[in-house]
Amino acid sequence: MVLRRLPETLVNQIAAGEVVERPASALKELVENSLDAGAKNIDIQLRDGGRTLIAVTDDGCGMSPDELPLAIERHATSKLPDDDLVHIKSLGFRGEALPSIGAVARVSITSRAQGADSAWVLRIEGGKVFDVEPAANPQGTRIEVRDLFFATPARLKFLKTARTELTHAVEIVNRLAMAHPGVGFTLADEKRTVIRLAPAQGDLFHQRLDRLGDVMGRAFFDNSIRVDADREGVKLTGYIGLPTLNRGNANQQYMFVNGRPVRDKLFYGALRGAYRDFLAHDRYPYVALYLELPPEGVDVNVHPAKTEVRFQDPALVRGLIVSALRHALADAGHRASTTVSDAALGAAQGSGANFAHQIQSRPFSHGGGLADRAATFQAPFQNLDMTPTARQEEVEIEATPDFPLGVARAQLHETYIVAQTKDGIVIVDQHAAHERLVYERMKTEMSKGSIARQGLLLPEVVELDEGSAARIAARVDEFAKLGLVLEPFGEGAIVVRETPAMLGNVDVHKLVQDLGDELATWGDAVLLEEKLADVAATMACHGSVRAGRRLQGAEMNALLREMEATPHSGQCNHGRPTYVELKLADIEKLFGRR
Ligand code: ADP
Ligand code: MG
Repeated sequence: MVLRRLPETLVNQIAAGEVVERPASALKELVENSLDAGAKNIDIQLRDGGRTLIAVTDDGCGMSPDELPLAIERHATSKLPDDDLVHIKSLGFRGEALPSIGAVARVSITSRAQGADSAWVLRIEGGKVFDVEPAANPQGTRIEVRDLFFATPARLKFLKTARTELTHAVEIVNRLAMAHPGVGFTLADEKRTVIRLAPAQGDLFHQRLDRLGDVMGRAFFDNSIRVDADREGVKLTGYIGLPTLNRGNANQQYMFVNGRPVRDKLFYGALRGAYRDFLAHDRYPYVALYLELPPEGVDVNVHPAKTEVRFQDPALVRGLIVSALRHALADAGHRASTTVSDAALGAAQGSGANFAHQIQSRPFSHGGGLADRAATFQAPFQNLDMTPTARQEEVEIEATPDFPLGVARAQLHETYIVAQTKDGIVIVDQHAAHERLVYERMKTEMSKGSIARQGLLLPEVVELDEGSAARIAARVDEFAKLGLVLEPFGEGAIVVRETPAMLGNVDVHKLVQDLGDELATWGDAVLLEEKLADVAATMACHGSVRAGRRLQGAEMNALLREMEATPHSGQCNHGRPTYVELKLADIEKLFGRR
């Protein structure tokens, strides 16, 4: 065995194994360098998903001919002027990327420094460095990486299809573009331009929202809430989606720490905490958050790829995220996302088309003549509910036209409240809305100590199976805190004395039976308070606003007003909307008037 120092190229190839996993990771290093160089526009060309060519052109500060050889020297960097690993302000700092890429690919670096009148090119192929030569280039830098991994065939075998590699590259560039909205980006492969993002204008919030809308989609632009919070020198800004804008995976959750895209467990966990009350556990909100903190509060030097970070005070960061998001969501109040009504409109348009089709395809020779059929179409609707309760509100509409959820005009199918707003129609799912209101009220009243109760004129005895009765009996104190006053009443029976006032008239029998069933599934260790959303849902099911119950106009309007006043009432406890709004403009579109 001979102990020896490894040749430089081998060292760099080993480092490349960590830094450059695939074309997208090489691309990430190049784009980060361009950003560090102060570029305002960055253009990217890929061939074969980046395997045969990655070219990045920027208009940044450039490099002089003396600097070029240093750029590819291991641990040579312009970014740690004071040898200070604590106060890192740039994206790069390790001086590793270019030598690593140069060790495993054929690279040319063409650059013209700011103020210089000529450009120079340096080539490095599989670690072999060529002389610096004159070249042509405007101010800035163009780096071409050809035949990535040609010098390390083992790694080459692990590359996926060009398509997959391209997807990774697009993802990387999108993330960096979200972190730097003032910079323009394009990305093209041999077939088409995949990314085209002009530098965003205006103040930072506007820049970001524009850029996020371009990358994450119009729906996010329309349905997101601004976040702006700080605590002990840590600043959290950005945009978060309304809970009704959600999806089945975390692919639209972005986090940036001091301008650096990161994927961090702490962040995903904090998001779950913040949205817990509004989304089912298998749904994920859309989020783009920017965390800024003094460089000494975070270590970005955890991994060569720099996508993981370590916070000095993780609890502070987590707490900031959860509380800032909860506040932002509370301020959004009853807003439900427009995607909901868009989806509804899509469906309505679909059925409208079908209806037209049915009319046309009905043979005219079948049954009476045209006049008869026309008469049936024009006949007044049967059973049209014109109860005075719905009509008497007309005066009120003119007096106060500005209720966001409008004034109730009718109840349909004993399930939906139809309200008229200033410029549209609102349809409320009365049961989902009520369930949410009960939950929110329970939370508020609980936080104040106890839930208001109303006594039953005659206490009711509910007969149950013995198991259920015993389970309920074991928790009478917990139920009392939730406004439900019960007592064991011999074997297999419970007597109910008081119910939560917020429920109105309750079907006591069914409520207690259902609670007994739920307790059986939750097990003995679970606190009812932890299951508040479920308890509220069960209670709301038996309250006076449940589905299938006719409501008076005053009851409907009271429900609408309470929704407006209650945070988070735009979605039910599972993230489904409680109401849908159709603007007159959209309705006109349905009828082809626009
Ligand atoms: P690091 O970014 O960690 O410093 P790199 O190997 O990525 O290490 O780059 C080495 C050096 O090359 C940088 O510090 C910078 O001075 C120079 N450099 C690389 N890319 C560019 C660019 N696009 N424009 C200007 N300078 C660059
Ligand atoms: Mg770098």
